Amino acid sequence: MKVHMTESLRIDLDSERWECRKCDRDLADARDNYKRGLLVYDRDPREIHAPIVDPERYDFTFAPDPEWVRILEYCCPGCGTQVEVEYLPPGHPPTHDMKIDIDALKKQWASREELAEPVLAPPQAAK
Ligand SMILES: [Zn+2]
Repeated sequence: MKVHMTESLRIDLDSERWECRKCDRDLADARDNYKRGLLVYDRDPREIHAPIVDPERYDFTFAPDPEWVRILEYCCPGCGTQVEVEYLPPGHPPTHDMKIDIDALKKQWASREELAEPVLAPPQAAK
């Protein structure tokens, strides 16, 4: 049984592994941080948020200071799909943004059919 978690990630409940939804590559232990199985590109934030005044003339250019913040782009090592992006202070470890209770997820899906594609929840009634 495979359960879709994000646009790019799913969990195989039988092997308890994170997988890439685009190329099916095995990424990491589902009880651990999926980012352990991804490639990381540590980007200078000025590549994304370019200075809007001349950096030769001014100390403060409205661009983020790369000594204060980095942009970490996480990509699948199998297909290169960008899975996540986060802004962190230089040297900060990757955040653990999805900690899934695998045992509860298994119980939840025990009586369900596997979905080929994600589905949206039915519309909620107006209150
Ligand atoms: Zn992939």
